[in-house]
Amino acid sequence: MGLPGEFLRESNRLLSCGEDRFYTCGGCGFVRRGVYRCDLLPCGRCAARRSERLRSLWTPAVERVPPRHGYRWALLTLTIRRTDSLRACVDRILTAWRLLRTRIVRRYKTDKRHFGGFASVEVAGAVHLHALVHMPFVPQAWLSKVWKQLTRDSFVVDVRQIHGGTRVAAAYVTKYVVKTVDPALGVRVWLAVRGRQIHRAFGVCVGLVEKPARPPCHCRLCGGVDWQPTAAFFSLYALAKGARPVVASAYG
Ligand SMILES: [Zn+2]
Ligand SMILES: [Zn+2]
Repeated sequence: MGLPGEFLRESNRLLSCGEDRFYTCGGCGFVRRGVYRCDLLPCGRCAARRSERLRSLWTPAVERVPPRHGYRWALLTLTIRRTDSLRACVDRILTAWRLLRTRIVRRYKTDKRHFGGFASVEVAGAVHLHALVHMPFVPQAWLSKVWKQLTRDSFVVDVRQIHGGTRVAAAYVTKYVVKTVDPALGVRVWLAVRGRQIHRAFGVCVGLVEKPARPPCHCRLCGGVDWQPTAAFFSLYALAKGARPVVASAYG
């Protein structure tokens, strides 16, 4: 496979992660220093930050799900047999997971005001999906059977009912659901997950996540919020604007 331009741009971003950046205030010319974060999934530096952000978004959303008689929180771990490339496995597990939800909804006639949760794909040597689901009681045997039908070859489904209500369930977001990719796998992970949403809310939880507005950074001198990257870092700025990247060796 040839290296696509996107790969070059992203490897540049990955390599630049953690570097100093300088910004000039449009109002008064004051220069401040910032740290560049690439926010790419395979980045080890950004992984902790992303987990933290997901936790802060998902934990309160779990607490906002309205309780309903007969519904409880369950923790699902789904795996998929490694028969193909990691990317194919990521795609297969995401598709099968979407179909599994449809099957649960149909079979258990779930109420869409109460059914939902969060799911994360974990990419290490194998591909797993961890989900925290608010749903009626669904037997493990049924889940395992359906999972096998959907994936054709995988039937490992771990289901744990969470006792103790919403508070306890929220703690599981932190403990189990927010798993991240293994940065040690480097480029293989990048190829497996790029363009895929591997952390997501579903069902009722989609509407319950409240993204906090990011407070603007005020200039220390004039209070302005209009920052421009400084000319000294023009190459990186130009890169962001689509210029040809100059560094491409990290994974060559
Ligand atoms: Zn990063
Ligand atoms: Zn200023």
